[in-house]
Amino acid sequence: MKIDRIEATPRELPRKEPFATSQHVSEAASVVFVRVDADGMEGWGAASPSDVTGETMETVSRAIAKLAGDLKGVSFDRGREVADRMDALLPGNPAAKAAIDMAMFDLLGKARGLPLHKLLGTARELAMTDRTIGLLLPEDAVAKAKEFVGQRFRALKIKLAGKVDEDVERVAQVRKAVGNHILLRTDANQAFTYRHALHFARQAYTHVLEFLEQPLPADDLEGMRNLTESSPVPVMADESVRSPQDAAKIGWARCARLVNLKLMKAGGIARTIEANAICESAGLPTMIGCNAESTLSIAAGLHFALSHRNVRFVDLDSHFNLTEDPATGLTFDDGYLKPSEKPGLGVDVRL
Ligand SMILES: [Mg+2]
Repeated sequence: MKIDRIEATPRELPRKEPFATSQHVSEAASVVFVRVDADGMEGWGAASPSDVTGETMETVSRAIAKLAGDLKGVSFDRGREVADRMDALLPGNPAAKAAIDMAMFDLLGKARGLPLHKLLGTARELAMTDRTIGLLLPEDAVAKAKEFVGQRFRALKIKLAGKVDEDVERVAQVRKAVGNHILLRTDANQAFTYRHALHFARQAYTHVLEFLEQPLPADDLEGMRNLTESSPVPVMADESVRSPQDAAKIGWARCARLVNLKLMKAGGIARTIEANAICESAGLPTMIGCNAESTLSIAAGLHFALSHRNVRFVDLDSHFNLTEDPATGLTFDDGYLKPSEKPGLGVDVRL
């Protein structure tokens, strides 16, 4: 396939309600939509920058404009070729690269008439996504948990404050409200100290948690390693793993038992496949997570999850909280997120 044109359109997509973590509050999803024309077809991708990779709407728009100029006229047969070329043209900027990368995979699927998960090799038919409860007072977290369970979500991820007593209370109350059949996960977004994280894990353990995500600052690998050894709740790395190289470091040093992969951190599908392979070889099951994203890039994450057996957890839920979304094509049914069976990402975009 030969790239004729790459065009970017930035959009602010308002949320139904603000979403808070221990680090910040967000009222809208900032998304740059990317259309790539090749061989008379259009491929679509989207970038959702976050401060985890230090990107903004401005840096993403600038990076895509540069790559659009440099990639014009380039031919490719595999997604990985474009990822390699982008890394040679421009360092960093993973969210910007993710948008172009997923548009390439969308095009390859369309050219071969296959949904992307079939092009990559389907490993499972179903993906159960959780729904994340933002950082709320314990009683409000309970109300949110009941609402999500009422919508048929079977797994909930609870954002933590990094305050031991309050966080244990949050988890205990949600567990009591939803019963034992709902899966519960937690994410502290780097807010704990080592000592507090261990206190939390030892108390919250009895409420049956699948994992404690990024309890400590991203670069505190020694703390992450010690906690991985001591915590009765499995430790997952998120902010500590921004690239396939980070995944290797976490694997060698045993700084987590699980890793949260995101297309926006690694630079798209090709690089996330590499990061997942490194995790798998190190014995670390993965989760596919998301930033504040549209249905478009959520679909890309879903196709990745459906085609990789090592992906044990799916946290693809940011599109549920948007008041409007230019992309459509996913269905949610009884806890499971499903792609359309159209070729490529299977998503329609109307900007
Ligand atoms: Mg996280």
